[in-house]
Amino acid sequence: MNMAPSNLKTLDVGLTWRNSFAQLGRSFYTPLAPQPLPAPYWVGRSASVAKALGLDSDWLNSQELLEVLSGNQPLSGTQPLASVYSGHQFGQWAGQLGDGRAILLGETEGGLELQLKGAGLTPYSRRGDGRAVLRSSIREFLCSEAMQGLGIATSRALCVTGSDEEIYRESIETAAVVTRVAPSFVRFGHFEHFSHSGQHAQLKTLADYVIDKFYPECRTGDQFAGNPYAALLQAVSERTAHMVAQWQSVGFCHGVMNTDNMSVLGLTIDYGPFQFLDAYDPDHVCNHSDDRGRYAFNKQPNIAHWNLFCLGQALLPLISEQELALAALESYKTVFPAAFEKLMCAKLGLAHAGDSTAAVDRLLIEDILKLLAQDRVDYTIFWRRLSHASAGTDNQTVRDLFLDRHAADAWLLRYSERLTQVARGLATDLMLKTNPKFVLRNHLGEQSIRAAKLKDFSQVDTLLNLLESPFEEHPGFEAYADFPPDWASSIEISCSS
Ligand code: AMP
Ligand code: MG
Repeated sequence: MNMAPSNLKTLDVGLTWRNSFAQLGRSFYTPLAPQPLPAPYWVGRSASVAKALGLDSDWLNSQELLEVLSGNQPLSGTQPLASVYSGHQFGQWAGQLGDGRAILLGETEGGLELQLKGAGLTPYSRRGDGRAVLRSSIREFLCSEAMQGLGIATSRALCVTGSDEEIYRESIETAAVVTRVAPSFVRFGHFEHFSHSGQHAQLKTLADYVIDKFYPECRTGDQFAGNPYAALLQAVSERTAHMVAQWQSVGFCHGVMNTDNMSVLGLTIDYGPFQFLDAYDPDHVCNHSDDRGRYAFNKQPNIAHWNLFCLGQALLPLISEQELALAALESYKTVFPAAFEKLMCAKLGLAHAGDSTAAVDRLLIEDILKLLAQDRVDYTIFWRRLSHASAGTDNQTVRDLFLDRHAADAWLLRYSERLTQVARGLATDLMLKTNPKFVLRNHLGEQSIRAAKLKDFSQVDTLLNLLESPFEEHPGFEAYADFPPDWASSIEISCSS
């Protein structure tokens, strides 16, 4: 195992570190340095994440930081570690898992943790090699920043560094490291770990840590007065409901919603076999390893609730009363549909109006989703074209997307009648800020990966630039907002990463 190399010079990047997770105690992790990666090079870098960290963006051109973020040199002030967690995978209790290839470097004074994914073996690697391949690292990097651009809660990614070191998956690939950034990487699975192994003192330590740092209102709110752990379960349920509502509204399929991939902060984390829908297919399964379609697109909202039940069960020793836990979980059932409806109304340019129009709007949403599914209409292009069309009276570009023009016309008529009740200019503005022009379609990621394998990283840069501001027009980049090519449907994305 890689112990912190004491003979190496540490790099000081001018940040102050406080490493609060490391202070939880040794039951929570193993102190561990990343494993060196030979001759690393930059693959992708985000200046905006550097800014969020308070890191001077010049560092993203420095050989020293490149070495640090590839695991070759320690970062001054950090306490690297791999944390232990457990989880339910594909509906089954999987027992102990943990950071099998991620090393938490530390937490900045500003409260952002830095984690290297693909940084080598840890005590939790099980049969894995501790590494991540270039392909999945580019996907994680770009998708983290795409989600941020879309306004969806997510872990961020500062950079990807690559190496020619060979990695064995279905074929020979090369290694890469993603530097991930989030206020915390604590998962539902962390709570399950301490609960199901009977380590209830640690369970309480973890819950208190999460509450004090991220959910202080759980100690003062009156709904579960005196029971901050029930309040925590409710707060996490609500954040998760908002996150999944956003996934559904933008057409994002996570692909592996195991409880160890669910953030207790309601962040989208652990980007693996994810996909943004091309054609709208509610039953779409993006993960080729998911034979039974457990994580199909339209199942995500229920799966999130199922996962929250697992969290609730894990918290039961602290909540004490099952009734309270169930009550805390109930909120998901109202928060999710309300959040989803609000987001879908915004996609239609309808700021949430009063009760008088709610039923009409609900039907407009239900019916258009049915039509989109029936004709397998491209989800992103439909909403963007509708946004532009809402400004005038010409719906041609929208109706062109449908096979059943008659049904499309009938819906468009109902919709334009509804639009007469609102200020059109405002509706169009709202739609153009809600319906992205650019999403990280599989084929776009794939093209950038193919070029990156040949050491051309310009496509990664271009995509990052577009996805950081997906609602802007970016003239000259229309091709990135176009329909997927025929070969896109043959891209197979699996758990292999
Ligand atoms: P994932 O499905 O990627 O969320 O991974 C599930 C578990 O397997 C986590 O505990 C990971 O740390 C671990 N894991 C995945 N890939 C590897 C790998 N190549 N080496 C070691 N552990 C891994
Ligand atoms: Mg994971």
